[in-house]
Amino acid sequence: PPATQPVVVINAHDLPYLNAKLPVKTRVKDLLSRMTLAEKVGQMTQAERNALRSRTDIASYALGSLLSGGGSVPTPNTPASWAAMIDTYQLNAQATRLQIPLIYGVDAVHGHNNVIGATILPHNIGIGATRDPDLSRRTGEVTATEVRATGIPWDFAPCVCVVRDDRWGRTYEGFSEDPALVKAMSTVITGMQGKADGSQLKQNTKVLASAKHYVGDGGTTYGSSTTGAYKIDQGVTEVTRQQLEAIHLDPFKTSVDLGVGTVMPSYSSVDVIGDEKGPVKMHGNAELINGVLKDRMGFDGFVISDWQAIDQLPGDYPSDIRTSVNAGLDMIMVPTNYQGFTQGLTDEVTAGRVSQARVDDAVRRILVQKFRLGLFEQPYADTSKLSEIGGAKHRAVGREAAAKSQVLLKNDGNVLPLASTSKVYVAGSNANDLGNQLGGWSISWQGSSGATTTGTTILDGIKQVAPTATFSQDASAPLDGHDVGVVVVGERPYAEGIGDVGNGHDLLLTDADKASIDKVCAAMKCVVLVVSGRPQVVADQLGEIDALVASWLPGTEGAGVADVLFGKKPFSGRLPVTWPKSEAQQPINVGDAAYDPQYPYGWGLTTQAAARQKLADAKVALLRKGFLDPNVLLAAVSIDVALRTKDWSGPQATIALAALGQTGKYLQRSRVDGFAEDDAVVGAARWIAQDAIGQDLDQAVSKLTSDAEHLALSGDLSTAIAKLTAAYKLK
Ligand code: BGC
Repeated sequence: PPATQPVVVINAHDLPYLNAKLPVKTRVKDLLSRMTLAEKVGQMTQAERNALRSRTDIASYALGSLLSGGGSVPTPNTPASWAAMIDTYQLNAQATRLQIPLIYGVDAVHGHNNVIGATILPHNIGIGATRDPDLSRRTGEVTATEVRATGIPWDFAPCVCVVRDDRWGRTYEGFSEDPALVKAMSTVITGMQGKADGSQLKQNTKVLASAKHYVGDGGTTYGSSTTGAYKIDQGVTEVTRQQLEAIHLDPFKTSVDLGVGTVMPSYSSVDVIGDEKGPVKMHGNAELINGVLKDRMGFDGFVISDWQAIDQLPGDYPSDIRTSVNAGLDMIMVPTNYQGFTQGLTDEVTAGRVSQARVDDAVRRILVQKFRLGLFEQPYADTSKLSEIGGAKHRAVGREAAAKSQVLLKNDGNVLPLASTSKVYVAGSNANDLGNQLGGWSISWQGSSGATTTGTTILDGIKQVAPTATFSQDASAPLDGHDVGVVVVGERPYAEGIGDVGNGHDLLLTDADKASIDKVCAAMKCVVLVVSGRPQVVADQLGEIDALVASWLPGTEGAGVADVLFGKKPFSGRLPVTWPKSEAQQPINVGDAAYDPQYPYGWGLTTQAAARQKLADAKVALLRKGFLDPNVLLAAVSIDVALRTKDWSGPQATIALAALGQTGKYLQRSRVDGFAEDDAVVGAARWIAQDAIGQDLDQAVSKLTSDAEHLALSGDLSTAIAKLTAAYKLK
């Protein structure tokens, strides 16, 4: 249908639930009173779109929701065909008696990651490394805007898991091993949904979030899951009551306080040490879902099951349905056998094993979110935002996040930041592979190597700064004549299970990557970047490596990695998880009794000191060349530093003021203009720079601090000086 297909409204004025002016509560009550059991059961049913025998089944079964599982994409996989696909499904929902719109869900766990051309952000482990809650919020805005533009109002994200064992194959989906950091980064929920009261959800830049996987998904014991590749994923979380509360439940309380609209239980089980109950599957865990999440935490959104997860409960299918719905699940991601599920739930209700009141409560919760999202008024895609998908504004956030997520673990001899004039030799399996840089949940469910979408690889980013860089993945090209090597190693993509299974190991580098490191590091100073969803064991190579960087899974904006490599931005990331010396150290977490990691939780060097020194050297070099009045230069640069650091008591400010003392006339002029004390200093800086350059300060200072500083920081002093010379010709 056309994307603008109008909603066919039956008798709008007489049906209160169709009246957008009425409060959500009133609308829900009215609608609920009109619904049959079959219509209620349908609302509680979520099918995978590929499982539909026919689109008309949406109406026949009164389905409440559809999803695209990982890699369930339209052909062609473009933003516009996603929007058209959702519209088609909604049109079928409009063919029902009550015209209740579908709520379509998708896993957009790091941007709208199923869609070719979308902005793909760093996975959560990298966001945790940034320690920047505002950035996390902004990544939520980017994701929500791109997802909603395609007509999808619901995102199965974020994972607020607390990762306690890096052998868990979903480590990358978590922000940290520390619940405090997970909570701090949960601002992504606000970015996605807006205000906690849900009042902004109807905006075309917002989506409903899903805090997952409730609870303890990141705390399972290695070997506790029996299903092959799932040695730890979907296993048993064995914890004391106190650990369950403080480590795993606490972040969900934060999600609830932020107003998260849905919560998804975990495939795993919780076994509370000392309560004698043994492991209880979360999808049937009434105590933790009804009791803790809904009653105690006051969660008023709806609980969506994980994919086919109720089938894992003990007993037959009717018992799975009964147990899960009675434990507090409101909607079931069936996802294929929707016929069997709707019949089964109907039978359970008819027989009185699931109460009518429980069904009404579940449906009420679902409808509240549909009304809040404005779906009754606008079920179709608002394509006005389609052009923002993968646009420059969003990619800039991705680039910023990629840069800030980089953790500098080692920097012997200040080899970083690199000079743009250096002759760089780039090697390693992950240097020029966009797919590997994206990880799982990227275009396909498990992700895959290669150029799966549009973006810059780390090599592309390096070449933008240092175009003459040599690339040889296996380091077979001649090594001589280069100043520095950058070897990018790490994991191949995966989404669930135990991780990079294809390599037959968990946290070790491949032999090919080790060989590249050995070759390059033997021949020149070398920087090793580890592109992976979790720490990799580097103990054996560490001695050869000059600088080591944890790059995580930086997403489509590889240029952000180059930004920190070349000092355009300082390294500022810090480890969100402990970096172990060996696999045998797992599980290892900050606070453990015998804590002896390779790099501790929170570790992260910065290149700021090295960069500042390079800037100071550049300044001296400039002064020696006599291009500038030293007072003017000192004052302008120092004032700018003081302004940016907001520190007027430090040495920079002292220098600034001393220099200003000698140019008192400017200060005086500022005072005459009626500036306050601090403003006078700022004003003086303006006058100084204006007089010095004969232009306005914004240009002058940006010349001084941006161009020259950037160049000086990257070690490219000769260009820095040349730039300044040109800029100061005016003087
Ligand atoms: C994952 C969930 C995901 C769901 C739907 C499951 O396999 O565990 O995190 O939301 O699939 O794609």
